[in-house]
Amino acid sequence: MITVYSEDHNLHTGLLDPRSDTWQESAECPDRANNVAKAIRDQQFGEIIEPQQFADEKILRIHAADYLQFLKTVWQEWEASGEGGANARPDTFVGAGMRYAETDSVVGKLGRYSFDSTSPFVAGSWQAIRTSANIALTGAELINGGERTAFAACRPPGHHATTRYCGGYCYLNNNSLAAQSLLDSGAKKVAILDVDYHHGNGTQSIFYERNDVLTISLHADPKLEYPFFLGYADETGEGKGRDFNVNYPLPFGTDWSSYHVALNDALDRIRKFSPDALVVALGLDTFAGDPTTYFEITTTDFQRMGEAIGKLGLPTLTVLEGGYSVEWIGKNTVRFLTGIESG
Ligand SMILES: [Zn+2]
Repeated sequence: MITVYSEDHNLHTGLLDPRSDTWQESAECPDRANNVAKAIRDQQFGEIIEPQQFADEKILRIHAADYLQFLKTVWQEWEASGEGGANARPDTFVGAGMRYAETDSVVGKLGRYSFDSTSPFVAGSWQAIRTSANIALTGAELINGGERTAFAACRPPGHHATTRYCGGYCYLNNNSLAAQSLLDSGAKKVAILDVDYHHGNGTQSIFYERNDVLTISLHADPKLEYPFFLGYADETGEGKGRDFNVNYPLPFGTDWSSYHVALNDALDRIRKFSPDALVVALGLDTFAGDPTTYFEITTTDFQRMGEAIGKLGLPTLTVLEGGYSVEWIGKNTVRFLTGIESG
């Protein structure tokens, strides 16, 4: 299996998260992707290639032009504004009956284009974000070119990002960009299966009224877990998209014995949909050893998960999403991809 990867993600570094009374390095840190690439090299899993470059038109198939402009310029505006702090980060959001008004303030813009405060910007963020999208788009090109499988080692991740909001460590929705690119290259139907621990709210919202993309997400119940305000079982799509979105909210403590039941149901739905290609949004944060989450999926289970998905026999692009055990993310990724290949 070919992996698409770039070192550019290392430019998106020095991100801070509030923990208790102090700021600490964000869980979404460069060593995540570095260790994924290292595990692929160390285990000689397959060739690693650099991403191709793609024009903004590809991004604008999913994201709004004003949002793209914001992502490109926010760091320069932050620096020019004299705002303090190593990270550009919002503190005021459009809620409580307020207007979605245009603003000249960079702090205002950060609030206007963010749905939470977990996705800060540093000097190198834009290049890393744009390269991450290029990685997913290159993966789609590989599938379009006839590869049965490919892996897009994206960082930053993408599944929380919507048409015009960043959040949840995500800025451009890499898996959605890949799915749209496959459709634009001739696929009639594409399925996106999101196995990240968190609901893929961005992916769901992007395709919610469409029937050419089946979106399915298995995740921790949003009643208990981020992103809290989307990801419930009764969200099944609207308009033409009715019945083309499926959510499996699962309780804390979910292990393979119950996870695989939901997964098999999801795979049955994908079979019935009969897509031309599958995009897997692979989060490794369902892992029992993940320091930030509450599922009990083991390293062996990741291979089982890959095998079950691989048995669909579909052209399959796997796109890297979350996963915060820096020590295990690489090993678990390779086990999952090994499963996909053998399935
Ligand atoms: Zn996640």
